[in-house]
Amino acid sequence: MGLREWLSKIFGSSEESTNKNVSTTPVNETKTTPVNPTTVENKENKTQKEERLVADKITIGHVHMSGCTGCLISLADNYEGLFTLLDNYADLVYCLTLMDVRDIPKMDVALVEGSVCINNHHSIEDIRKTRENAAVVVALGGCASYGNITRFCRGGQWNQPGHEGFVPIGDLINVDVYLPGCPPSPQAIRNLCVMAYLLLKGTDEQKALATKYLEPLMKLPTLGTEACGCDLMTKVINHGLCMGCGTCVASCPVRAITMESGKPNIERDMCIKCGACYTACPRSFISLELTAQFETILGAIDGAMNP
Ligand code: SF4
Ligand code: SF4
Repeated sequence: MGLREWLSKIFGSSEESTNKNVSTTPVNETKTTPVNPTTVENKENKTQKEERLVADKITIGHVHMSGCTGCLISLADNYEGLFTLLDNYADLVYCLTLMDVRDIPKMDVALVEGSVCINNHHSIEDIRKTRENAAVVVALGGCASYGNITRFCRGGQWNQPGHEGFVPIGDLINVDVYLPGCPPSPQAIRNLCVMAYLLLKGTDEQKALATKYLEPLMKLPTLGTEACGCDLMTKVINHGLCMGCGTCVASCPVRAITMESGKPNIERDMCIKCGACYTACPRSFISLELTAQFETILGAIDGAMNP
């Protein structure tokens, strides 16, 4: 069973989206090829149906290190939007949960979920192979970016007592983009995929827009692999950016944050420096320059998702 059929079984029929004469003209006027009707109308011919519908797609892989699979669920929570992505912009070439491909292939973009267990040589080999084979490596979610809840692990847990140390992927390889969040929202993952496509395959104008969108996320890896409650204080609250949403409180695994007078207060002695609060905070990687272009960016994404 192909990936498309498998996803269709789970999320419902995708016939409507697969049979559309999809064109990415609104977002990319020169690069894409319209669907060949004979390819999609012949429902009897499975091999034809699984052909690439649009030329010039990018290839994307989901590499699962040590995490809870929440980021993958968030990716799948795009529902029909996932079909639009797969039809028009990206071929999923590697994903241990969804596909029967064992070796990490060459790909344009690797979405890496989870931190790396340094007591497991397979994990270290996999993350190095990912770096070798992917043009762009994205740390997808808090664990891959900053360690998140896996920073809590000290070994001795019943299923893997020898697994004592977990590090963010940036401690072992060069990372191009962080997409923090625990998990990142479905929309954030979708937008990243569209923008990665525009960056790699778009017109000059689209490349510039995608660069603008991705810049704050590309800057995060240059700032290091550690985040803690102090980052909330120094980079969000002290800058007057906190809107008192309480997401940081809910995300702290050791209850080191409480809300006082509508703003978070961090008990620093309790903080294990997992970065969960900082990565979950919607204001932690805000870019005012980007905010100024928000409507243009949303228009490009809407155009891409409704071709
Ligand atoms: Fe993690 Fe809590 Fe410390 Fe934030 S305050 S880094 S969530 S332990
Ligand atoms: Fe403030 Fe960020 Fe915490 Fe929300 S998640 S309360 S914006 S610091």
